[in-house]
Amino acid sequence: MNFVYKFPLKMHVGAACKPIVNIDDIVKRGQCIAIPEGLGAKIHTSVSGLVTKVDGTCIIIRADETQSEDYIKIKDCDSIKDICFEAGIVGAGGAGFPTHVKLAKDIENGYIIANCVECEPILSHNISFIEQNPEVVLNGIKYAMEAVKASNGVIAIKEKNAKAITCLEKVIQNYKNITIKKLPDIYPMGEERAIIHSIFDKWLEPTQLPIEANCIILNAETLVNIVRAVEDKKPVIDKDITVGGKLQNGNKQNVFFQVPIGTPIKQMIDKCGGIDGEYGEVLIGGPYTGSAGNIENDVVTKTSGGIIVTIPFPRFEDKVGLLVCACGANENRLRDIANKMGSEVVEVLPCKNIEVIRGANKCKTPGNCPGQAAVALKFKKAGAKRLIISNCSDCSNTVMNSAPKLGLGVYHHTDHVFRTVDHELTRRL
Ligand code: SF4
Repeated sequence: MNFVYKFPLKMHVGAACKPIVNIDDIVKRGQCIAIPEGLGAKIHTSVSGLVTKVDGTCIIIRADETQSEDYIKIKDCDSIKDICFEAGIVGAGGAGFPTHVKLAKDIENGYIIANCVECEPILSHNISFIEQNPEVVLNGIKYAMEAVKASNGVIAIKEKNAKAITCLEKVIQNYKNITIKKLPDIYPMGEERAIIHSIFDKWLEPTQLPIEANCIILNAETLVNIVRAVEDKKPVIDKDITVGGKLQNGNKQNVFFQVPIGTPIKQMIDKCGGIDGEYGEVLIGGPYTGSAGNIENDVVTKTSGGIIVTIPFPRFEDKVGLLVCACGANENRLRDIANKMGSEVVEVLPCKNIEVIRGANKCKTPGNCPGQAAVALKFKKAGAKRLIISNCSDCSNTVMNSAPKLGLGVYHHTDHVFRTVDHELTRRL
């Protein structure tokens, strides 16, 4: 058993938290160990034990040999918003935005949208949870609606998840004003503005947030964490996660519910029998938005969605161009992949649907491609022999309609991940 748990002080959008424990303190599971200074969320220990390290980046706790599932409960609060703050709830789908801030403003006649899209292929813990506990997600929507006085709830879920939809439909009549919106299986269907477009047939501007459409979007696991905090006074100390890829127990997904935060990712891989021979990288997150992790140092955090061990990268010791998407891998991730393939990067171009807003790439209409022929031509002129792209399903389709005609090969940044698990590649729709 592992006895060392690491708690990064930044598992959320905002600034790193301030530790409120010291080396040699004895702590109990559920105890708050760090508090936000400004935008952020409280951090609680998932294990009982001894604090062995505190610095500006993390707190390390040596866990007692015997652990209990019990925990120190959060204090009584007057509102659901305060409960979310005390419990340290953040967007569990990967974004990590503090939930108490998302719920800060009332949206009378507005919508709570449950993001049950689980947009990243391979990751499957959200859908598995919904299949087993549909009423918990619905209760989460009910509490979130109550918190901001929203009058409507919508569950956004991919149509392909028929079993989860059936489970929800069996209990949804017990809840007032909550409906289900079925979505197609394309990437990035789970992007917030793509969800709003699907429900209301209206695109928000890249500068606009869902609140401007009178909507608040919360991931399925985030809603479940609200239920646990409201009903059981439980802080966020455990995380659901999918582990998959090149593993000794096969290349199918392994879903783990309620893994203590701070658990080393190596321990999760070992639970699946360990890595099966040579591998390319350990991806933290999903195939589209995940990044290469460090098997020796990384731990499960409040936002970890997946741990995927991939096959080795193919070699391509020639010139490549990088086509960057706002909703998939960024330039750094594409450079990382080019480097691992032994390629020389001769050009980097953004998808033409990108607008740079406050220094960040934003897509005008996520998943709705403007055409990529002109971009392919620019890469050709720069001397690229192959493109490494991170585009959405729709744009990958249009890249495939233009680049090969110019003699350019195409490698989608998810290719090695999908080949690992025998998943269809992102190419033509
Ligand atoms: S249109 Fe472009 S930026 Fe937008 S999701 Fe597709 S590839 Fe990404």
